Amino acid sequence: MSDLLTYDEYKAIAAGLTFPVNAFIHGKFQSPRSGQTLETINPATGEILAQIAACNSEDVDFAVRKAREAFDSGVWSKAAPAARKEVLIKLVKLINRHRHELAVLESLESGKPISECQLTDVPETASCIAWHAEATDKLYDQMAPASDDAVGMIVREPLGVVGCVLPWNFPLMMVAWKIGPALATGNSVIVKPAEQTSMTTLRLAELALEAGVPAGVLNVLPGLGPDVGEPLGRHEGVEAISFTGSTEIGRRFLEFSAQSNLKKIVLECGGKNPAVVLSDADNLDSVARHAVFSALWNMGQNCTANSRLIVHEKVKDTLLTCIEQQLTNWKTGDPLDPTNQLGAIISREQYDKILGYIATGKKEGGEILCGGKARKGKGLFIEPTVFDKITPDMTIAKEEIFGPVLAIMSVASDAEAIQVANDTCYGLQASLYTANVRKAHRYARALQAGTVSVNCYGEGDITTPFGGYKLSGFGGRDNSLMAHDQYTETKTIWIDTSDDPIDDTV
Ligand code: NAD
Ligand code: MN
Repeated sequence: MSDLLTYDEYKAIAAGLTFPVNAFIHGKFQSPRSGQTLETINPATGEILAQIAACNSEDVDFAVRKAREAFDSGVWSKAAPAARKEVLIKLVKLINRHRHELAVLESLESGKPISECQLTDVPETASCIAWHAEATDKLYDQMAPASDDAVGMIVREPLGVVGCVLPWNFPLMMVAWKIGPALATGNSVIVKPAEQTSMTTLRLAELALEAGVPAGVLNVLPGLGPDVGEPLGRHEGVEAISFTGSTEIGRRFLEFSAQSNLKKIVLECGGKNPAVVLSDADNLDSVARHAVFSALWNMGQNCTANSRLIVHEKVKDTLLTCIEQQLTNWKTGDPLDPTNQLGAIISREQYDKILGYIATGKKEGGEILCGGKARKGKGLFIEPTVFDKITPDMTIAKEEIFGPVLAIMSVASDAEAIQVANDTCYGLQASLYTANVRKAHRYARALQAGTVSVNCYGEGDITTPFGGYKLSGFGGRDNSLMAHDQYTETKTIWIDTSDDPIDDTV
């Protein structure tokens, strides 16, 4: 049974919401030390929803101190794994109980369609935290293969204070991807949400406190990147940063780390992901459905968006007909209306950037098959846009657009398809369509990407690592147990058990 409410019910929830606006530090909402605020704007209407705390480096210092005190007290870091699990499972139950409110809040501040917030973002936020919570008391440390004269233990320990710097495209899910494993492994966490979408993260922190996450263990500092992200990145008291966002900003965190305490850095960055359709791809209706979904999901504001459709000329015409058919299923409009599949673009800046790329695509010789325009009226809406006749040298074949724009490129052979697919500085995800199982295996290996999905568009799920090759990522993976590596240090404990007195000093 679908969990969707009606348009009227969602509007009623929206009208009754109280927006969380202050920083959340040491278990309390607190005004920022600067006294400054930032506007949170509903991109579907242009209306100002709330004035949000604009934190700065003084708030960062204070939050790091409180997070460190909580860590050193052992209240969370040294709690029994089963105890941490129990608290996090309570948080999951609270997320489920507040799922409609969270979905509306997410939709209002991000412009995402409510159907996705309700059916994907909120449930996956809950299931991600549940998965890591459930793992907490089922993970064993290791013993080294030593002789009887020694016991070599290899144990995992939480790092201490961890910073998570987040994007606006999947606000709740990204916070879950980071705090799920970070909290499960015993760290204290400071989250810096994207300035456009801070409120769901603040609400989540409040629910975490209610669930029993101790004060100081989960803190949220809204504010601008240079005011909060950079001081966190440079802080001597922060042991790690897990970042998701643009490659341009991600790489700065490596510099912040190099210039401070060599904190661990994990980056999940951009993509220019290919959907590769080989000459023998069958079931082209299904290929078109996946290709269109992968390009348009979340208005294309997705780091794994398949923004390049690389198709063998033999199947191209049929595929284009199927794509046209699929596009009729994508309705744009008020994000709170559950019958819409496409909502608003996050900000004026991104909206202008996307329209700029569409103009460049036309200027450089791309042919618009559909869309290509903004929708008139209030709100930041852009029509789903499909370009044909794109060649690898064109700007929109190379740069991440982060909008509802699909570029179709024709190739004459399977080998050329793979070569074009890999001709990018990114390597996050690739989709491969073929009916031949040998080609599926061979080319999945040949594609340079952290995830390759075959005969579908997919990112795997919580059980599989997520991250990128090349400029798409650095230093680790989100999701699966590999995510725990981001938030733990490995310690060897070597115990001499020999009874030879001469060796006592060793
Ligand atoms: P961004 O990389 O600037 O923002 C990501 C996070 O980094 C935000 O929390 C932001 O406040 C913070 N940040 C920004 N400048 C900073 C600085 N100087 N120091 C420290 N932290 C800083 O992303 P954006 O500007 O919101 O979007 C720009 C482009 O990035 C998009 O068009 C898209 O191509 C890409 N993007 C990718 C993802 C992804 O999931 N990989 C998400 C959002 C945006
Ligand atoms: Mn930016």
